[in-house]
Amino acid sequence: MRRLAVVGAGIVGLAVARQLLRANPAASVVLVERENTVGSHQSGHNSGVIHSGLYYAPGSLKAELCVSGGRLLKSYCEERSIPVETCGKVVVAVDDSELPRLQKLFERGVSNGVPGLRLVEGSALSELEPHVVGLRAIHSPSTAVVDFSAVTRALAEEVAASGQLWLGTEVMSVLPRSDGLVRLELAGGHAGYFDCDFAIVCAGLQSDRLALRSGADAEPRIVPFRGSYYRLRPAARHLVRGLVYPVPDPRYPFLGIHLTRTVHDEVLVGPNAFLGFSRDDYARSAFAWRDVRDTLMWPGFPRFARSNWRAGVREISHAMSRRGFASAVRRYVPELTADDLEPAVAGIRAQAMLRDGSLVDDFWLDSRASILDVRNAPSPAATASLAIADHICKRAGLS
Ligand SMILES: Cc1cc2nc3c(=O)[nH]c(=O)nc-3n(C[C@H](O)[C@H](O)[C@H](O)COP(=O)(O)OP(=O)(O)OC[C@H]3O[C@@H](n4cnc5c(N)ncnc54)[C@H](O)[C@@H]3O)c2cc1C
Repeated sequence: MRRLAVVGAGIVGLAVARQLLRANPAASVVLVERENTVGSHQSGHNSGVIHSGLYYAPGSLKAELCVSGGRLLKSYCEERSIPVETCGKVVVAVDDSELPRLQKLFERGVSNGVPGLRLVEGSALSELEPHVVGLRAIHSPSTAVVDFSAVTRALAEEVAASGQLWLGTEVMSVLPRSDGLVRLELAGGHAGYFDCDFAIVCAGLQSDRLALRSGADAEPRIVPFRGSYYRLRPAARHLVRGLVYPVPDPRYPFLGIHLTRTVHDEVLVGPNAFLGFSRDDYARSAFAWRDVRDTLMWPGFPRFARSNWRAGVREISHAMSRRGFASAVRRYVPELTADDLEPAVAGIRAQAMLRDGSLVDDFWLDSRASILDVRNAPSPAATASLAIADHICKRAGLS
């Protein structure tokens, strides 16, 4: 019997394990996760948006897999009775300087095949979002929200039903053996070795470290970018109907502080994007020396810091204060005040950086022998997860 292994029970690893089981019913599939629950990191700490595919460079994996993955995810949620709200989204330009970027974004979305996109202004914008002001906006009616934790739990049920889910077990290395098999060295619950025919590594914030321990290329390095959220107090929730975003800065893969109505009928404000001082501690004051050292020692980091210090200063003001968050959002929802915000959760993004200091824009998959390493799967990888799984299994010859 063929033995297949997946590392990491975030939404990507779970979707991959499920796809392996569906496509290879005679194989034995083991999913190994170091935490005691599934979806403990990025997949359980995000905005919950099923992105439509507006932002990504045409022809990129992100563009292709976000559009197809969003469709797959919506039908999966329907099948599994997971609530999805297709509340739509507006991306709002508030001054003239943003109009050319808004137009470019619109054209990108159209060429990516995002359904129903249109440009709106004046009364059409007010009809969609009565409390939002702006010169012009893109309306994406197919953008939706979901609870990605509920999706990861549903995927985990399927994986546990026909495969094996080993929680509380850390994979220390994933090494090709001379006979063509792959050896996983394990610590924790299932400590020891596990030999398999093929391994797919979806380790999120730890993907670079595990790759390095497994003899793979040191590039790219994961740099954690923390994203904090506030939520609107109940009395202010009426100010937003769906999702409201600013025009993003094209130099960064982050979307700017936005307003997201969740499936639990809260409105989140954020996330900002600031260098994380820990890869897996969500406390505001979290500081892990090893994580900070790994970022600082990466040759690309000083270059990144030199060319982005202005954005860093701006993000510090957002990171440090409720007022900073409020002023970012007041540009397009002027009725909002700092008193309307209360602190909420935070997430930590696994963003890959190259040696030259540039941030990897697209998803990045590396193959070596019978191993496939996912080296960059930031947003919209939750949206795209089912399509990423299909893509990975095809690429590995396991579809
Ligand atoms: C603040 C924020 C907002 C976001 N908003 C959105 C959004 O609205 N829409 C969207 O589509 N995407 C969004 N994203 C991105 C999305 O959450 C991620 O792209 C997606 O969750 C990545 O899934 P993953 O499985 O690759 O990683 P993760 O969910 O981080 O899972 C990786 C898993 O690997 C495990 N692991 C690591 N090392 C080992 C090891 N050695 N052995 C065993 N297990 C290991 C970890 O414990 C973890 O469970 C957001 C992300 C953040 C942080």
